[in-house]
Amino acid sequence: MIIHVSELEEQGLRIDDVQALGPVFADPSWRLESVALEVEPDGADVFVRGRLTATVPQTCGRCLEAFPAHLDAALDVRLVPKPTGADSVKLGADDLDVDFYDKDELDVTRVVENEATLALPMKPLCREDCRGLCPACGANRNVAPCTCDPRPPDPRLAALRDLAARLAN
Ligand SMILES: [Zn+2]
Ligand SMILES: [Zn+2]
Repeated sequence: MIIHVSELEEQGLRIDDVQALGPVFADPSWRLESVALEVEPDGADVFVRGRLTATVPQTCGRCLEAFPAHLDAALDVRLVPKPTGADSVKLGADDLDVDFYDKDELDVTRVVENEATLALPMKPLCREDCRGLCPACGANRNVAPCTCDPRPPDPRLAALRDLAARLAN
């Protein structure tokens, strides 16, 4: 969805129809569920604020199972005109969420795609209390508990076992 910045009205534009954005993600297994966006001009800059929800297939970092991750991300992006030629834009420390638009055309679809990608968890977990895989036998401990000793081997016990083995001989 391309917005012509020069045609943007003072009070801004509200977007809460996912369909209006067209296809957002290159990967068809990613699904945008909802958007509630305000697109507001601020001089030559444009703010895109609001939130999005999406469902994205992920792999759990503990049990390695695929699961649908639900994203619920707040957006607060400032778009500035793309500098032409030798111009450069100085970005301040608080300008982490700054992006560019080119030749009066602001692609809101691309902003939404970027922000959803940024909202992906660094360490996806299928659930907060995922038990993960057993380090000894590799079984998925969410599915069934295995019979492995959950305690790490104690070096003092190992020494005692060595001693016992020597005394027995
Ligand atoms: Zn898991
Ligand atoms: Zn095990």
